[in-house]
Amino acid sequence: MSYISVYRSFITALSLWILAGCASAPLPPVPKDDQKIQQLAAKYQLAVQFNLDNISVSPWDLRFSLHQHDSPQLQLYLRLFHEEFHKLPPALIQKVNLKHIVLLQQLTVAEQPRLAVPDYVHEVLYYDTSDTRGMPYMPHQRHVVHHEFYHMLEQQFYGSAYYRDPLWQQLNPIGFQYGNGGATVRDPKVAKFSHPAPGFINHYAMSGLEEDKAELWAVLWTTHAWAAVQPMVARDKILQRKVQLLVSQLVCQVPELVDPLLPRLQSVSLNLLPCDRFAAAAQSY
Ligand SMILES: [Zn+2]
Repeated sequence: MSYISVYRSFITALSLWILAGCASAPLPPVPKDDQKIQQLAAKYQLAVQFNLDNISVSPWDLRFSLHQHDSPQLQLYLRLFHEEFHKLPPALIQKVNLKHIVLLQQLTVAEQPRLAVPDYVHEVLYYDTSDTRGMPYMPHQRHVVHHEFYHMLEQQFYGSAYYRDPLWQQLNPIGFQYGNGGATVRDPKVAKFSHPAPGFINHYAMSGLEEDKAELWAVLWTTHAWAAVQPMVARDKILQRKVQLLVSQLVCQVPELVDPLLPRLQSVSLNLLPCDRFAAAAQSY
């Protein structure tokens, strides 16, 4: 970390401490009427909430604590969530059929901490707002907003969040086998964009086909991640084919994605694939 980064971190921490009122004044209630929440609700027809009202119980052993009051940490999360989610076209959310976003603290599945959990059974996305690493921009949390959303998308479009896309499988190096899924790889180092092998942007992408796709989807949406990954894609033919396939498949299903995603393809000299080849593949699922 540079001196400038240390200085910035210090100023940010100081600002948050001042914002928190030196821990003496009572904090205001959870901001259910926050303008950013209202905007998201109006644009996407979904509820962004801090409790489980009108939500069916998740099929997983979810554990968490509810926000009891407003806080600088929650405001930081709301800002980044609003900025990231706002990039998605409403037609996509409609097609994915997402109904609820729930913002919580100390989220775990059983004992395992999670930054987010997609409940594609009940169309709910749970996000943990506790992690403030990389404050104030918090690049990893931005990445997670998109990554977890992709799991909902996959389930809705292909009938399973673990769909074994044959068109994707055949792009991998001969003999390559994925690991045992994202839940078995929890070391934060695996998320680093390290390009560990041809066709993969990080070790997490190698843990499962569903994680491979979700990682690539997420980097397409955040400026910082695309800046890191674009050079890898530019020199890796397998990554090029994966990005091209991912974007083309989705643009064929949601044409409104062309505006945000085509520039990504074009930045690595790629174009959209024709939709007819996906229509044939769609017959098989
Ligand atoms: Zn995942």
